[in-house]
Amino acid sequence: MLRLDSDVQYVKGVGPRRAALLNSRGIRTVEDLLLHIPRAYQDRATFVPLASLRIGQDAAVHARVYRSRVMQTRTRGRILDVILTDGSSFVHAKWFHGAYLQTRDFHAGREVVLFGRVDFDRYESKFVFFNPEFELLEENDETSSLDIGRYVPIYEEAAGITSRQFRRLIAGALKDLAKDISDPLPDDIRNTHGFPDLKTCLDRIHFPEPKDDLEELNQRRSPYHRRLIFEEFFLLELIYALRRVQSRSMDGVRFETTDRIRQRVKTILPFHPTAAQKRVLMEIVDDLKAPYPMIRLMQGDVGSGKTIVAFEAIVIAVENGYQAALMAPTEILAEQHFINAKRILGPLNYRLGVVRRGIKKAEREDLLAKIASGEINVVIGTHALIEEHTVFKKLGLVIIDEQHRFGVVQRLQLMAKGENPNTLVMTATPIPRTLAMTLYGDLDLSVIDEMPPGRSPIRTIHAVDRDADRIHRIIAGQLQEGRQVYVVYPVIEESEKVDLKSATEGFKKLSEIFKGRRVALLHGRLKSEEKETAMKAFAAGEIDMLVSTTVIEVGVDVANATVMLIEHAERFGLAQLHQLRGRVGRGAHQSLCILMTPSRLNDVARQRIQAMIATTDGFRLAEVDLQLRGPGEMAGTRQSGLPEFRIANLLLDSEILSLAQKEAQRWVDRSHEREKLIEALSARTRFVTVG
Ligand code: ADP
Ligand code: MG
Repeated sequence: MLRLDSDVQYVKGVGPRRAALLNSRGIRTVEDLLLHIPRAYQDRATFVPLASLRIGQDAAVHARVYRSRVMQTRTRGRILDVILTDGSSFVHAKWFHGAYLQTRDFHAGREVVLFGRVDFDRYESKFVFFNPEFELLEENDETSSLDIGRYVPIYEEAAGITSRQFRRLIAGALKDLAKDISDPLPDDIRNTHGFPDLKTCLDRIHFPEPKDDLEELNQRRSPYHRRLIFEEFFLLELIYALRRVQSRSMDGVRFETTDRIRQRVKTILPFHPTAAQKRVLMEIVDDLKAPYPMIRLMQGDVGSGKTIVAFEAIVIAVENGYQAALMAPTEILAEQHFINAKRILGPLNYRLGVVRRGIKKAEREDLLAKIASGEINVVIGTHALIEEHTVFKKLGLVIIDEQHRFGVVQRLQLMAKGENPNTLVMTATPIPRTLAMTLYGDLDLSVIDEMPPGRSPIRTIHAVDRDADRIHRIIAGQLQEGRQVYVVYPVIEESEKVDLKSATEGFKKLSEIFKGRRVALLHGRLKSEEKETAMKAFAAGEIDMLVSTTVIEVGVDVANATVMLIEHAERFGLAQLHQLRGRVGRGAHQSLCILMTPSRLNDVARQRIQAMIATTDGFRLAEVDLQLRGPGEMAGTRQSGLPEFRIANLLLDSEILSLAQKEAQRWVDRSHEREKLIEALSARTRFVTVG
């Protein structure tokens, strides 16, 4: 008897050699094998009479051999050519390289069932199946087998094991599987949502019965699919729900918000906050006042105004006698936050410090000493904040900007510098909300879903290299009006390996073309001070055109810049293009984003450009991005730290995901059943890898 956790080598037909192959593809247990679910199903149950075959149709036929022969060809080796008849008509079946097939097996009168796509043989004016799947029947054989005469599962080949072989291995595993495998999903949930039990699901997902709906199966929408997808999501959501409950019961730093503090928060505001900014601040304040530590994600599209909300939270922390730390992914962004902090928090007389790499030893030691003594209230920095031996006197608030650029570990490292400090992470990550919900499932979510007033939407155009002159005239016009311009290149320098325009070359050319304008170059290989000088000068309006690489991708905020020209836009992903475009359109002036590409583009690049032109909504773009990657191919999400699923697909199955989240919350709230769940859960967590 096999159990789900039995080693896959005990499945009939596997053995040590195949087991090694399967292991190399991550299939180690019987459960792993059974979760290698079909990628499609074919209806081979209904036999089509030969007289009614149509070209292009996938058909199963049941016929007798009329005649067979082997032809020797020059280009294709031996071909086995069999003519079949069922009394209604004739059809050819041809197998190339069919040397392994024996003519004598296909002797006249032999009964055969076969499945394949109907083709038309121009030379013989006959219908033909090329390399069909087939089965030779014994005299009084039932025409039912694993491959023919039913809904047949089609598997992705893996480790050199064909679809047909998988069918046999899996059938064997199901046959020998213990009848009483335990089902981790509570009956209550199964009954509520009409999910079949685990054993039934595994049986029918591989070998559906005639009454099952083929269409649903192929859409991964059968009750069996839905249940397995739900289960993957449910276990993940349970973990998140439990983490939420646990962090609620932890003692954290508790802030007060008196009238005086509220007043001070108001004094820093350079503008009226939007309704969304106000609402999110309220949500943050509720957390700050509560006895448990805040762990909140502030999500808002590029330019929605997250920074000021973060500064409001900083004021509350400092007024409560605590220190606040703000971490950003790039030096440029940390620098910008520092400049903003000086301006915005200036009137409150806080002591500010910026921690970055490459500062002189004496200066650094002085800074670290002041952070440790509590003299500095607000510390801003890059990764250096966690890497340097920064010790805080009394860290009460941790803020992480552009959180998707950091890993969970880095977030935890910074948090560990205080005692359960309140934590706010910010992101414009253009992933759909449903994805954010799982990616950041243990965080509470606040969304800024409104742009500050007075912005005119950014216009986006596509231009090819021969339009360069026209584009330069447009830019000249904007410069004439006193606006500023970004030009972004994919690489710093020309190289022999790839034929790309580079920032360094571009800088030379543009300096020529725009003689008399102040053009500056910015890229990651410059020294910290050089970067800082360029950024400061651009922000102060002392530079007209900033020629750069993607170092300016996130966070940079200069309201007077109205043109974003992206060279080789075909080289960038949608998320990146969206972030880059978000550098303009930050003031009252109409802004323009120009996507420059060569004239020849591949399909995906073209669709990306079209999507950029069609919408400025980051969430919409994220969905397009996932669709362009194609379902199943979630490699892109792997990098972003999203959990991986075996069957579930975050994009296609978002509706089941929210169902799972609701159920998980409901189950965790019923605390007396928690123990049982944790048990079931830990037995099955191999279903998912939690990021
Ligand atoms: P992001 O959410 O991308 O980090 P920022 O916080 O950098 O956006 O804000 C973008 C720009 O909008 C900044 O110049 C900021 O000063 C401005 N801004 C933010 N909120 C408002 C508001 N309520 N009214 C007017 N301008 C605002
Ligand atoms: Mg920002």
